[in-house]
Amino acid sequence: MMPDYHMHTYLCQHAQGTPADYLIEAEARAMPEICFTDHMPSPDGYDPDSRMSMEQYPTYRALLEPLRSTRTQIRVGIEADYYPGCERFLAGWLTREPFDIVIGSIHYIADWGFDNPRYADRWKTVDVTAVWQSYFSLVGALADTGLFDVVGHLDVPKRFGFRPPDAVVATIAAPALDRIADRGMAIEINTSGLRRPVKEIYPSPGLLRMARARGIPIVFGSDAHAPHEVGWAFDQALTLARDAGYTETLRFARRVRSIVPLP
Ligand code: ZN
Ligand code: FE
Ligand code: FE
Ligand code: ZN
Repeated sequence: MMPDYHMHTYLCQHAQGTPADYLIEAEARAMPEICFTDHMPSPDGYDPDSRMSMEQYPTYRALLEPLRSTRTQIRVGIEADYYPGCERFLAGWLTREPFDIVIGSIHYIADWGFDNPRYADRWKTVDVTAVWQSYFSLVGALADTGLFDVVGHLDVPKRFGFRPPDAVVATIAAPALDRIADRGMAIEINTSGLRRPVKEIYPSPGLLRMARARGIPIVFGSDAHAPHEVGWAFDQALTLARDAGYTETLRFARRVRSIVPLP
C-alpha cells in the first residue's frame, strides 16, 4: 500500500478522533507510512474557523511527536493554504518548522470558501467556468511561490458537482499544470472526492493524464478527517494512477523526496 500523505487532526475543529486512533487504523491497513497534514494556523485572521490557532500549534507537535509504531512510519506535515498575501507568514514559517511535507491547497476565491458545504449554495448563482478560471489562476500563483511540495486536491472546485465540460477544464488547467511542472512540484491523488457529492477522486482522469504528460509526480492522500478514512479507497487511487501511465510515487522526509515504484 502507498503512504497516506493527507490526514487531519481534531485541532482543525472539523475532524474527529485522536492521532493515535488514525495510527491504529493505518497499522490495521498495513500502511507503510502516514503523514499528518492538518490545516495550518494563520496569524493574519485568515479563515480561523477551519484550523488550529497559532497558540495550538505546539499542541499539534506535542500530539504527533510521541507517536510510535513498529509497523508504520509516522511523519508530520501541514496543509498550507495559498491565498494572496500568504507569503508574508509562510515564507518564514515553513522553512523554520521541521515539516516532512507541505501540501499547498486553495480553499478560498476572494472571500468565498467555495469548497465549504456551508457556502455551497453560491455555486448556483455564479458563472461556473469563470470560477474555475479564477481557481486555476490561483493554482498557478501557488506554484510560482515555490513554497509548497505538493498541490492538494487539484480540481476541488468540482466537489459539489459544478464544473465545465472536460475539454474546457483541460484548457483552463493547462497553464497551471505547466507552472506546477516548471517548479518541480508534485500533485496528490486525493480520494476524499469519493466521499463528496461529485463522487470522484481528485484529480479527474483527464487532468491526471495531463499531469503525467508533463512529468509531474504524484503522492496519495485520503484527506482523512476521521480515523476510518485513513487509506480511503487507495485501491481505486492506484488503478487511476496506473491508468494514467504512472509507475512511481514519491516519499518525503523533511521535504526531501525519493522516488519509489507503485505497489
Ligand atoms: Zn479539513
Ligand atoms: Fe484541503
Ligand atoms: Fe485536507
Ligand atoms: Zn484538505
